[in-house]
Amino acid sequence: MLIVQKYGGTSVGSLERIENVANRIAKTKSQGNSLVVVVSAMSGETNKLIEYAHHFSKTPSKREMDILLSSGERVTASLLAIALQEMGYKAKAMTGRQAGIRTDNSHTYARIESIDTAFINSCLEEDNIVIVAGFQGINNNGDVTTLGRGGSDLSAVALAGALRADACEIYSDVDGVYTTDPRIEPKAKKLNTISYDEMLELSSLGAKVLQNRSVELAKKMGVKIIAKSSFSDGAGTIITQESEQMEAVLVSGIALDKNQARVSLRDVVDRPGIAAEIFNKLADEQINVDMIIQNASKEETTNLGFTVPYSELEGAKKVIDTFNHDIGGADYDENVCKVSIVGVGMKSHSGIAAKAFSAMADNNINIEMISTSEIKISMIIDEKYGELAVRVLHETYKLDQ
Ligand code: ADP
Ligand code: ASP
Ligand code: MG
Repeated sequence: MLIVQKYGGTSVGSLERIENVANRIAKTKSQGNSLVVVVSAMSGETNKLIEYAHHFSKTPSKREMDILLSSGERVTASLLAIALQEMGYKAKAMTGRQAGIRTDNSHTYARIESIDTAFINSCLEEDNIVIVAGFQGINNNGDVTTLGRGGSDLSAVALAGALRADACEIYSDVDGVYTTDPRIEPKAKKLNTISYDEMLELSSLGAKVLQNRSVELAKKMGVKIIAKSSFSDGAGTIITQESEQMEAVLVSGIALDKNQARVSLRDVVDRPGIAAEIFNKLADEQINVDMIIQNASKEETTNLGFTVPYSELEGAKKVIDTFNHDIGGADYDENVCKVSIVGVGMKSHSGIAAKAFSAMADNNINIEMISTSEIKISMIIDEKYGELAVRVLHETYKLDQ
């Protein structure tokens, strides 16, 4: 079998842990498998590098940030290969470029365009364990690019797809995908399987156990992911196509995204095209607008509210300032979060939303905004009630049973 394994930051967070990973890889290799291993930087390392850059500049150039940030995963890839060699195995570490990963030009958030697997294949043929530095590739100019936070998951899925691997195993400090973050609700239950669409919603809505773009790509390429722990043995969680069995479950999980901010625009002139102008300009500045609410207009004006990722709030403020002729006033609230309920079973069952709203009311949690899709319900609430809301909803839908 050809197996792609990815080890996240916590799993390679110290020299002892790198050794533990080397032992696990050695075991899989001795069972007769070919192995491509993707590694993250040691935990905390990427954040540390970002802080270093911010010591010199508030807005460091993204091209240079990519060179800087890609170094973290190179450290772990080379150390892991050295450890394996010392144990008597043939191992070869490589950067994203050497692994043939080509991306577009969006520095710090690049998309993988293609993978030339020739070098990896030749290393595998020579019986090497291939160790790839995750989270990085190279663009057409030959510059290093990185794939967005948590991007080593994406490297692993893309490599598994390109190499037509038999398995893609993502190792972290949890032994699978849970009904909610077990750090918030210790009663959370591990799921045996979850559909791509549910996982995509959960990860986009804040569950960082898998990076959302990696799930999107896995669905597109039909790569079956298994999420496991590098600290224990267990079957993990399989992320795959939706099945009838999954649809029987109403709610699969609850996610919490604290990285949210709300923008409220008062007395916006009520003329055709104003919303298009505002949201086009935000899109031009690459600001991701999420929930949008427009109140029924009174007289000549209307109120408009929406959410953006917290990190994009400053950018949003700048755009809104350019509309000061059309907008009466703007309020910004950084202390909000988004709590979401996800489940493919919602497609065929009613009353799930009503139950969530009642649970919030019973606990005196005010819902500021709501949005729904076929398989999710999201609510914006005060950040200080985020974790409580997760526990309340977990209980409401009896996810601990
Ligand atoms: P890595 O560094 O290995 O990529 P991450 O820290 O990105 O790992 O992801 C693992 C973490 O995701 C867990 O420690 C857990 O707290 C968090 N998490 C959030 N939501 C969930 C969930 N629904 N199931 C499992 N883990 C979750
Ligand atoms: N080291 C990168 C990050 O912290 C990528 C990853 O860990 O997947 O975001
Ligand atoms: Mg991660």
